Amino acid sequence: MTKRALITGITGQDGSYLAEYLLGLGYQVWGLVRGQANPRKLRVSKLATELSFVNGDLLDQASLVAAVDLVQPDEVYNLGAISFVPMSWQQAELTSDVNGMGALRVLEAIRMVCGLDKSRPTTGGGIRFYQASSSEMFGKAAETPQNERTILHPRSPYGVAKAYGHYITRNYRESYGMFGVSGILFNHESPRRGMEFVTRKISSAVARIKLGVQDELRLGNLDAVRDWGFAGDYVRAMHLMLQQDEPVDYVIGTGRMHTVREAAEIAFASVGLDWRDHVVIDPSLVRPAEVEVLCADATRARTELGWKPVVTFEELMRMMVESDLNQTSRELDLGEALTAAVW
Ligand code: NDP
Ligand code: GDP
Repeated sequence: MTKRALITGITGQDGSYLAEYLLGLGYQVWGLVRGQANPRKLRVSKLATELSFVNGDLLDQASLVAAVDLVQPDEVYNLGAISFVPMSWQQAELTSDVNGMGALRVLEAIRMVCGLDKSRPTTGGGIRFYQASSSEMFGKAAETPQNERTILHPRSPYGVAKAYGHYITRNYRESYGMFGVSGILFNHESPRRGMEFVTRKISSAVARIKLGVQDELRLGNLDAVRDWGFAGDYVRAMHLMLQQDEPVDYVIGTGRMHTVREAAEIAFASVGLDWRDHVVIDPSLVRPAEVEVLCADATRARTELGWKPVVTFEELMRMMVESDLNQTSRELDLGEALTAAVW
């Protein structure tokens, strides 16, 4: 029988890759979209034409109940969030509401539609739930690499809100027997990554500098270390987690560490430029509480799910630069005024 999936955050990077992947597996896919005329809905409809949409917002409980009731999904992927860490200091309350309470609201919607009640023994209902947890929850981790047992020490309102989403998912699993899991995903990127994230900021700047429409690239902490993978590889892990016999949380990452400096070096070198000629350090881009080092120990995912990443960091950075070169050239041909990312 055809499986049905509901994805929140469909207009984002992961939502679009996951939708394409599930459609390829023969799923019927619905994406939750907020707002009256969300321009990003058009972009994702072009990517995946067989997609259906349902209106709703992670801030609005009734809309989520209605969406789950309408779609009657087998699987719900909660990818919707305010995902840019610096934004979470500017809008801490909103971030907590969307990223933390939003997860609770989706779980509640599933609970209500499945008729789960704590006073009665249940089998957890038929809907499987995936929560987009984040390596940012580890923050100032006491150990490197980080695995499923590493103690959480989030360093931003974003990380704290994600920790709430993580624990409430576990709690609904334990309270109601729900099949609810969290994927603790490390940074993953692609040509569809938001322009404010450092890899995309670098790849778009490299393209603009190469094409002569920008001179310099302003960055913050060049020493920050991340474990960067390709989003297309990571959505496979999300799906795999919901196909298991038991609900288990998994860390997903490559296990390779790279600095922001290396990301810039590879990206500039891929078009024959030297990053040192263009990168300027901007202290205003340094965060109030930085996460210095993140690196995944994804042993459990490798052994139990059989998951491993395919695209390397070098290939990822080159893929992003190439895509931005094509996009920027097209925009220049159209005479569009381009503005550089300033975050
Ligand atoms: P994006 O920022 O690309 O997408 C975020 C999505 O959330 C958008 O579709 C946005 O929709 C939606 N959204 C925002 N606010 C609401 C709301 N109030 N109600 C419903 N939807 C909302 O994120 P990614 O695709 O990169 O990430 C997917 C998830 O994975 C996020 O939860 C993120 O925090 C988490 N994550 C990401 C990592 C990464 O490296 N990419 C690492 C670990 C976790 P709209 O178009 O309406 O703005
Ligand atoms: P995050 O890990 O989810 O916060 O992803 P980002 O891509 O936003 O940031 C990754 C790392 O790059 C963080 O440690 C940032 O401090 C660092 N970084 C250094 N300069 C910049 C910059 O100009 N923009 C962003 N977004 N991050 C930067």
